[in-house]
Amino acid sequence: MRKAIFPGSFDPLTNGHLDILERSTPLFDEIVVAVLNNPEKKPMFSVEERCETIREVLKDVDRDGCLLSVESFSGLTAEFARSINASAIIRGIRAVSDYEYELRMALMNRRLEPSIETVFLMAGEEYSYVSSSLMKEVFLLGGRIEGLIPDLVETKMREKLAR
Ligand code: ADP
Repeated sequence: MRKAIFPGSFDPLTNGHLDILERSTPLFDEIVVAVLNNPEKKPMFSVEERCETIREVLKDVDRDGCLLSVESFSGLTAEFARSINASAIIRGIRAVSDYEYELRMALMNRRLEPSIETVFLMAGEEYSYVSSSLMKEVFLLGGRIEGLIPDLVETKMREKLAR
């Protein structure tokens, strides 16, 4: 059983995240999308809202026979992976600028949990500039971000803004 976690803030979920997930499903039997509970970062969406939206969007994702689920977690990613018996941590790399941070995290996680490997997948070119923070910034300034985030996420962002 090849089980992995795909951890992140997902505030909000973008098509870049989905691209990585769809590239991962043929590689694993089970993937848990692990949503970081990070209230100190003042996220746009609560961890519950993020989990609920991701669950909804995942209904349309090509699963390739892979079991997909969504869970929130706090604390160390490596510890969470171990606690659910995952053997891999999936991360996406968009550009060289991601590499340094990701390398540090991967090495630290390996030190914490030597049996868990970090697997890096390269972002699709069309989403290589897409990040949750850029999406929020452009959206809040009234720019168009359709095609870069799932439609449901855009609807949820509009609802948030209206409140
Ligand atoms: P974190 O705060 O842990 O970086 P994110 O939600 O920003 O959480 O990202 C989660 C993972 O998804 C990271 O590995 C990140 O590199 C990857 N990712 C984010 N955006 C993209 C994208 N456009 N293409 C590919 N991977 C991405």
